[in-house]
Amino acid sequence: MTFAATVLTLFPGMFPGPLGVSLAGKALAEGRWSLAVRDIRDAATGRHRSVDDTPAGGGPGMVLRADVLAAAIDAASPADDPRPRWLMSPRGVPFTQAAARELAAGPGVVIIAGRFEGVDERVIAARNLREVSIGDYVLSGGEIAAMAVLDATVRLLPGVMGNAESAESESFAEDGLEYPHYTRPQIFEGVGIPEVLTSGDHAKVAAWRRAEAERLTAARRPDLLRRGPAKP
Ligand code: SAM
Repeated sequence: MTFAATVLTLFPGMFPGPLGVSLAGKALAEGRWSLAVRDIRDAATGRHRSVDDTPAGGGPGMVLRADVLAAAIDAASPADDPRPRWLMSPRGVPFTQAAARELAAGPGVVIIAGRFEGVDERVIAARNLREVSIGDYVLSGGEIAAMAVLDATVRLLPGVMGNAESAESESFAEDGLEYPHYTRPQIFEGVGIPEVLTSGDHAKVAAWRRAEAERLTAARRPDLLRRGPAKP
């Protein structure tokens, strides 16, 4: 089963963008996942084919119209589509590595990239959209958020990462941060590599890495130690 991603956006030209290179791009070319990009504007009707309108009740900015977005979703994702529908939104539940793992184990995802002040609230319930945030900051549109979600997810698909072990040891794999890495040269600007890493003692190396990962997590992200397995 190929992981099928569909992205609804007002800026289809932004895709595949970074998803077309490196790991994700190679996997896309190999058919390990598919990417369909739909222009929300194609669903607009009327003489001006406008997709947005002023917010009810007044206030700044514009809002993506419910009727246009619903029609765009219906055209891209039928009612019996088994894929979850995610609306990128700063007020959504946080996107996590656990969420990426869960998504990668499923049939794919339909992602709606918002613009303007956001989307008409009614379409969220009407089309069963899950609001997902990639962090506590405001982007100008959901496209970069969609790319972040897809990049994190696609690299977890079978056969995408060269070394399966790297997914198991990297940051957040066990709700902690990853240990530090070193490589050649042996001495860099007068600083050597921790001796244990060149000792050849695998048990000692593993213990050192575990301790370093715990130290870094406690110092930088104590919240990860406190919380249970994260889910969006
Ligand atoms: N008025 C909105 C608010 O205050 O929550 C911000 C809208 S933002 C300018 C436009 C679009 O960018 C959003 O609809 C969403 O799709 C996307 N976006 C912005 N920040 C995001 C984030 N942290 N995570 C996911 N999507 C984001």
